[in-house]
Amino acid sequence: MRWESEVKLSDEVRWRIGGAATRFGRVASVSHLVEALAELAGEPFLTLGWGANLLVADRGVTSPVLVLGDELDSIRTSPGRIEAGGAAGLPALVGEARRIGAEGWCFLEAVPGSIGGGLRMNAGSADTGIWDRVIEAEAVTPDGEIVRLTEAPLELAECFNDDSNTCPLIGVCRLSRTWHKALDAFLDVLDGVTIADIAGNRGELTQRLALDADGG
Ligand SMILES: Cc1cc2nc3c(=O)[nH]c(=O)nc-3n(C[C@H](O)[C@H](O)[C@H](O)COP(=O)(O)OP(=O)(O)OC[C@H]3O[C@@H](n4cnc5c(N)ncnc54)[C@H](O)[C@@H]3O)c2cc1C
Repeated sequence: MRWESEVKLSDEVRWRIGGAATRFGRVASVSHLVEALAELAGEPFLTLGWGANLLVADRGVTSPVLVLGDELDSIRTSPGRIEAGGAAGLPALVGEARRIGAEGWCFLEAVPGSIGGGLRMNAGSADTGIWDRVIEAEAVTPDGEIVRLTEAPLELAECFNDDSNTCPLIGVCRLSRTWHKALDAFLDVLDGVTIADIAGNRGELTQRLALDADGG
């Protein structure tokens, strides 16, 4: 990771005020982020999105600041699904949704910010927030672990939740490790499938539904 020093944060945030970051890292991809976090080795850091919701003090920031870009500033679509990187903009997401005819995203049209900042702040309107539309999000923890945040928690046992776990066997339980492996395998299978794959035999499916509707 190439760290820049004394980067003026006023150039990086919407309000155009504030001091410098002593150490500033531009992260190009998930693997690059994992590498940067390994270099930080647990040192507290700050994450900057588009800086729409941040005021930076004139004295600046001594903690390292990370900002996402490059590969993470991307939006891909497939039938029924939009995949966006954390650095992509909310207005671009709405534009892409409109282009593919996906409804229900207009409430983010005027929110200035990135997907990452939007998820962090649950960007939205009085009626709805971005998390109401998210199927799943991939995140990197400060320890560099890649985790998946889903609509419904995929907690197979109490010990899957670090915050509420009371089981004393955590860390030494082989059953728990096996469940984690099984869940990873389950998610790996789903990762390889798109809605287009599932709807590939559309003719057969609609025929079966029509038969049922006719009294089958
Ligand atoms: C004129 C104006 C209008 C606005 N209108 C709305 C509105 O209608 N609805 C609304 O909800 N908000 C609104 N906002 C607030 C703001 O736009 C949103 O909160 C937006 O989601 C901030 O995104 P950002 O990328 O600029 O985040 P930043 O301001 O850069 O950061 C905000 C927080 O998110 C964290 N963060 C940023 N990126 C990441 C990341 N990749 N991973 C983890 N954490 C991250 C930061 O550390 C910080 O804690 C408005 C702001 C302005 C200035």
